[in-house]
Amino acid sequence: MPTPKPQMSKSQLIDKYGRQLTYLRLSVTDRCNFRCYYCMPEEGMDFAARQELLSFEELYRLSAVFCDLGVNKIRITGGEPFVRAGIIPFLRKLSKLPGLEEITVTSNGSLTKPQIEALQEIGIRKINISLDSLDRERFFKITRRDKFEDVYASIFQLIDSGFDIKLNCVVAENKNIQDILPFVELTKDHALAVRFLEEMPFNGSDTFQLPQWSHREIYRHIQDQYPVLEKLQSEPTSTSVNYQVPGYKGSFGIIPSFSRTFCGTCNRIRLGATGELRTCLYGPPVTNLRDLIRLGASSEQVEQAILGAVSNREKDGFAAEASYTPSKHESMSVLGG
Ligand code: SAM
Ligand code: SF4
Repeated sequence: MPTPKPQMSKSQLIDKYGRQLTYLRLSVTDRCNFRCYYCMPEEGMDFAARQELLSFEELYRLSAVFCDLGVNKIRITGGEPFVRAGIIPFLRKLSKLPGLEEITVTSNGSLTKPQIEALQEIGIRKINISLDSLDRERFFKITRRDKFEDVYASIFQLIDSGFDIKLNCVVAENKNIQDILPFVELTKDHALAVRFLEEMPFNGSDTFQLPQWSHREIYRHIQDQYPVLEKLQSEPTSTSVNYQVPGYKGSFGIIPSFSRTFCGTCNRIRLGATGELRTCLYGPPVTNLRDLIRLGASSEQVEQAILGAVSNREKDGFAAEASYTPSKHESMSVLGG
């Protein structure tokens, strides 16, 4: 990674509540080789046509604008980032972007194995892998793909190769409650961080049932089995509240992604694979940066559009949700999870 760029007295992405946005979630595709029930329907996903996607040149150009505005960390997400051909050369180029201090990736882990060396060489150290069950059949029901063994093996290959791994587990009644405690137990001998998420209404369908398992129920369920839990110090902008069972090598965290208790310190901004900019997951796209640059906008004009969007950022996910009535729940693969 290049050294941090010296801060000039340039515009920064600071919203009217004083939160500075320094963390870009960059979706490189809306496509995926899985069909997790909480993210997209089994059939009938209307994926973007190739020409609608931001090209790698456009993704790079927009990333550079964000870094000029003070973004110093980019998470590559999707859809599944590794289904997009050309992702590795793009990451290599991105890693040299002035001002960018860290690139992280969120992946379903099914396609990471052949990329381990390249990711190491690029300098990517932190990868989040989605894993909602430790049981092959439940994994299949959740992802609609029989890939548990591949994903599970690749997690340990990544750990053995020195990557810092977090496992994202979306908790839901009738899906994977029986996996919560085994996931905590997995942290006994493995230095990984499991993060339990509340399900959010981004499943690409017409229906969504309010989650029965909030961060409180998840915590109580774990505490019943592990009465002594050590609360860990977290970054002020962290969305997870993190714990460790004393003596265990790894840790676990709980993310109130539906309860939205962390909005007050949220430093994230999202660029979808077709250029839609969101200042909150729960809100509407506030502008489309792809359309802007394809109309010939200069980097200064793109900066102004981003600054304008940030200045109108809602206070929290509830206010953002109240301002928006989509015709159906959008898929997380479109929002850039
Ligand atoms: N395909 C990659 C993966 O699954 O890790 C990256 C994209 S995925 C949209 C990013 C993250 O969003 C995953 O950890 C996934 O579990 C999470 N996610 C997707 N839909 C969700 C929902 N409705 N509620 C909570 N988390 C969700
Ligand atoms: Fe694919 Fe990730 Fe969505 Fe699952 S959560 S369908 S792996 S994009």
